[in-house]
Amino acid sequence: MGLLIQSNVSLKPFNTFGVDVKARVFVEAHSDADIREALAYAKEHKVELLVIGGGSNLLLTGDIDALVLRMATRGIRITHENCDGATVEAEAGEPWHPFVQETLAQGLAGLENLSLIPGTVGAAPMQNIGAYGVELKDVFDSLVAMDRETGETREFSLSECAFGYRDSVFKHQVGRWLILRVRFRLSFAARLHLDYGPVRQRLQEQGIANPTPIHVSRAISAIRSEKLPDPATLGNAGSFFKNPLVSAELAARIRETHPGLVAYPQADGQVKLAAGWLIEQAGWKGFREGDAGVHALQSLVLVNHGAATGLDILHLAQRIQTDILERFGVSLEMEPNLY
Ligand code: FAD
Ligand code: NAP
Repeated sequence: MGLLIQSNVSLKPFNTFGVDVKARVFVEAHSDADIREALAYAKEHKVELLVIGGGSNLLLTGDIDALVLRMATRGIRITHENCDGATVEAEAGEPWHPFVQETLAQGLAGLENLSLIPGTVGAAPMQNIGAYGVELKDVFDSLVAMDRETGETREFSLSECAFGYRDSVFKHQVGRWLILRVRFRLSFAARLHLDYGPVRQRLQEQGIANPTPIHVSRAISAIRSEKLPDPATLGNAGSFFKNPLVSAELAARIRETHPGLVAYPQADGQVKLAAGWLIEQAGWKGFREGDAGVHALQSLVLVNHGAATGLDILHLAQRIQTDILERFGVSLEMEPNLY
């Protein structure tokens, strides 16, 4: 079956902010052959290519004058197994959370703390997704990506991905690599990470003394559901700003006027501040202007109450950045990818 190429398609269902912009051309890729066909189309028609997965880390600020290629490839397989664990490979279009559930159901540990993150497997390496003390890089084996210019595929090892805090080589070489499939190294014996946020407490409250990875996944999913808005009912892209790393001196200065400062010292001497806490202290929690707003339960999350445009959300984000810089001397960097 040939590729279904559509023009002037609304991207509202394809971004979790629910921003209503149009793509000049839109295709869904279900196989590597579809991807090659889409690349050839883009080249032939001299149109830019924008690859998307679940659209949960995007802020679309206007109509997209490009071919939007939505990854819908599927497949999960074990490529290597021994008595300690297994290497599991998943196609880029696999939805992330069901993939995590599938690995846990197979008795494999490692992804439990990354439960309930929206999006796809293929986008996960883009910003080295992280939550509750675990990052993708901690269980990453390798990935296969296609060079959009040449159409050639190549493997990336852990070191070649240059993963950092919400960062990777792919984020820096924008538009070059199309991630096709990702491999994870998971283990049968769980080494659980429970010391982040309220995870351990939640398990204790449930009377679970010896948690399994599935217990951890359920606890984290419950905590997340209570705190984070569901994009199906309130548009958002998760945390809108990264948690800033500042010098110990700056953190100490802020603490003089704000003794409750939420700060985590890092191994390199810097201090990670909770951006959500800074935004809340500045009085933005629950703020709303038109349909763009700050979530009432988590100030790090900007929301679309209905008809906000990408620019409405961007302008609100910029106002918050300016305010936080003036009040605390801290620069907040946006996390979602802007188009
Ligand atoms: P998209 O938004 O579709 O794309 C993101 C970027 O990746 C774009 O630049 C796109 O061009 C590129 N891209 C997508 N697929 C590919 C591919 N196959 N090859 C090359 N480039 C590609 N993130 C966290 O790290 N931790 C969290 O805990 C977390 N929680 C969230 C909670 C909520 C409620 C929401 C809405 C978001 C959250 N996020 C979190 C952000 C987001 O879910 C992740 O970054 C996710 O990995 C994005 O996946 P996606 O498929 O939706 O990517
Ligand atoms: P939280 O528990 O209220 O904590 C606030 C911030 O403090 C977090 O962002 C986290 O930073 C940091 N933190 C908490 N405990 C820490 C510890 N023991 N050591 C070092 N840093 C610590 O955060 P939350 O908003 O509910 O989110 C919970 C987790 O899910 C976090 O890891 C967060 O990153 C992740 N999350 C990410 C997104 C996204 O879109 N990126 C959206 C929702 C949730 P880190 O963010 O660096 O972990």
